[in-house]
Amino acid sequence: MAKMFINGNWADALSGKTYEVRNPANGKVADTVPESGQEDVEATVQAAQAAFPGWADTSPDDRAAILRKGLQAVESQAQEIAAQLTAEQGKPLFEGSGELHHFLHGMEFYAGLASKIRGAQIPLPHALGKNAYGLVLRRPVGVCTGIVPWNFPLTLMGTKVGPALIAGNPIIIKPARTTPLATLKVIGLLNEAGLPPGVLQCLTGSGSVVGEGLIGHPAVRRVALTGSSETGRRVMQLAGPDFKRITLELGGSDPCIICPDANVKRAVSGVVVGRYWNAGQQCLAIKRLYLFERIYDTFVQKLVEKTKKLKVANGLEKDARLGPLHTAAQREEVEEQVADAVKRGAQILAGGKRPEGAAYEKGFFYLPTLLVDVPDDARIAQEECFGPALPVFKVKDWEEALARANNSVYGLGSSVWSRDLSAALRAAERLESGYTWINSAQIIYDELPFGGVKWSGLGKEHGSEALDYYLETKSVVVGPT
Ligand code: NAD
Repeated sequence: MAKMFINGNWADALSGKTYEVRNPANGKVADTVPESGQEDVEATVQAAQAAFPGWADTSPDDRAAILRKGLQAVESQAQEIAAQLTAEQGKPLFEGSGELHHFLHGMEFYAGLASKIRGAQIPLPHALGKNAYGLVLRRPVGVCTGIVPWNFPLTLMGTKVGPALIAGNPIIIKPARTTPLATLKVIGLLNEAGLPPGVLQCLTGSGSVVGEGLIGHPAVRRVALTGSSETGRRVMQLAGPDFKRITLELGGSDPCIICPDANVKRAVSGVVVGRYWNAGQQCLAIKRLYLFERIYDTFVQKLVEKTKKLKVANGLEKDARLGPLHTAAQREEVEEQVADAVKRGAQILAGGKRPEGAAYEKGFFYLPTLLVDVPDDARIAQEECFGPALPVFKVKDWEEALARANNSVYGLGSSVWSRDLSAALRAAERLESGYTWINSAQIIYDELPFGGVKWSGLGKEHGSEALDYYLETKSVVVGPT
């Protein structure tokens, strides 16, 4: 049975309660984990409070050195951790391994920033005295919590742990209920590298008890959530009364626009990766595809061919390209969105159903799906589709493409494919989203700030910008002695 990590130790829930984590490919129990309650939240927050002054006073070099030692330990167990991720989340092994390496790269990026946090010295008017000056200090904010979803458990944990620790804060991670196992392994290894007790902890359990308990605790000053827009709204409500600092990385319905002058081969591959990576369960997946009329028929034909070749299988199988969806509910939601589109006149050109055969019976598999003739008011065009189904639309020019792309409550990512870079850059300015890819697949870079607009969230993760959310900026005036 797995344990949680509290105050430097592996721990059970104080109540002794547990729950099972199951493999979405075959329904088998992957492991059993503690079911935390409010009393565990209290113990964890107290340990974080006690750890805060010492960690804030630890030199940036030492913070980075401990982190790097932990990252080496994680890297040395990369295969085992990736396999654990596949067993609990469902993603193919090569994607799990890619996620772990992305996590390591992102954490190394923050370790490198530890010694580069800068304040300022500002000259002041002489009215106060000739030698007076101002200082701008950057201080850690205090106890932080990071609430993480199940689609990228490790990278999205790292985007919170990295900046929090490097800025001198303790952080408590609450993984998704269904994906705590690889996270616990990694958090254990980072702690064994020498983090003081209470600096990095992990509580397993539900969002309604553990997540809300952490957000509502008066000693928690900073909340970072990655999750659905609905959960984001709830987190805002809970964090509001105490004016806690929040960042919200939420849902998306990213548009992708393909122009007639695009490199079709590369664009087709980009769309396939952009839509079907992680079985479509990505916040920044391509969820609406807009093709210019002139390129529509050719592009759709090539896209159908490539989509039909993708192998759906248990993520541990060689050549598996799409694993199962993460839960039964997740698959049902996609099925309902596809059925709604068909009812409104859409046609299915690929997939649109579960794969058949004994190997698929116990898992939540769904074939990669392409839909055309989808009306703009269909659920799949309006809501976030968190699975492997893509509606394709025809547009006559940039104006129509941009208007329809922006016609969404979401604003996370977007992408455009065109050899006319000035037109593509103009489009990037007009697209209402926090990130735009031009002639490239939707891959997140740790060096660039990431975060959405509209219902897709508030604030930024990644990049040096993320550090700002884990630091208070304080002014000091020094008068003449
Ligand atoms: P979710 O909102 O259901 O859960 C996310 C996390 O929040 C989990 O740990 C969950 O236990 C916790 N939680 C749930 N209710 C809570 C509450 N009332 N208080 C506190 N915590 C609570 O999301 P999910 O289904 O795990 O993930 C899928 C969603 O996440 C999709 O909408 C996806 O687009 C979004 N997402 C966004 C990004 C991004 O960077 N913008 C990245 C990945 C996923």
